[in-house]
Amino acid sequence: MNLVLLFPDDFISERLVRLSGRRRDHLSAVLRAEAGEEIIVGLADGKIGRGRLLRIDDDCAELDVALDTDPPPPLPLALIVALPRPKVLNRVLAAVTSLGVKRIFFINAWRVEKSYWKSPRLSPENMRTQMISGLEQAKDTVFPQVELRRLFRPFVEQELPSLIGGATALAAHPKGSVECPRALGGEVVLSIGPEGGFIDREIVSLEAIGFRSVHLGPRILRVETAIASILGRLF
Ligand code: SAH
Repeated sequence: MNLVLLFPDDFISERLVRLSGRRRDHLSAVLRAEAGEEIIVGLADGKIGRGRLLRIDDDCAELDVALDTDPPPPLPLALIVALPRPKVLNRVLAAVTSLGVKRIFFINAWRVEKSYWKSPRLSPENMRTQMISGLEQAKDTVFPQVELRRLFRPFVEQELPSLIGGATALAAHPKGSVECPRALGGEVVLSIGPEGGFIDREIVSLEAIGFRSVHLGPRILRVETAIASILGRLF
């Protein structure tokens, strides 16, 4: 936790924040913070600043906070990911949040197992928990917008073309026709396949609306590693 994320309910007056539970425990057990110390804090979907620890006891911590700095800039990216298995979903959400992705679509694909759509990890509460972990990691405050699309074809044919607009659309595919570009600049729409990969028909549908299928060389990477590697190349 490199930033303690605050929510409006934490404020007991304009500058005074009271924390209990996980965040208090982190201040105490991991940071070993003591009264008088300053800690980096940020208001959810708001500014970043510093909180001076006024007191910390077994139940709660109180901080005097001043928020004056904008969060880091978002990536100019819409990320489309074939719904991964639930454990991986958690990792992907935390990782892409920490990388600055602000728009994520989890979509269906032929090789997405149907049971994944029933996972409790798709609940708003669980997804929020993963995003909080990514924001606290990266010293950001702005929650990504996450959307679920259970039907591949209607999403690709009806919604995706307008989402692309003037952006560069890339489909990560180990059998892609060209190598993934570097330092592209500008808006990007990036789609990532399921753990078993996109099938040919899906790549054809994506290419039909303007996607280029791109590869990262001969190594097949896990979904979250592939995403991190592509974002590192592009931005
Ligand atoms: N056996 C599958 C592997 C899928 S890996 C296949 O051959 O397609 C899961 C996803 O991560 C892929 O669909 C792709 O979006 C991305 N990915 C992993 N390694 C990649 C690589 N070397 N090049 C491009 N995309 C890759």
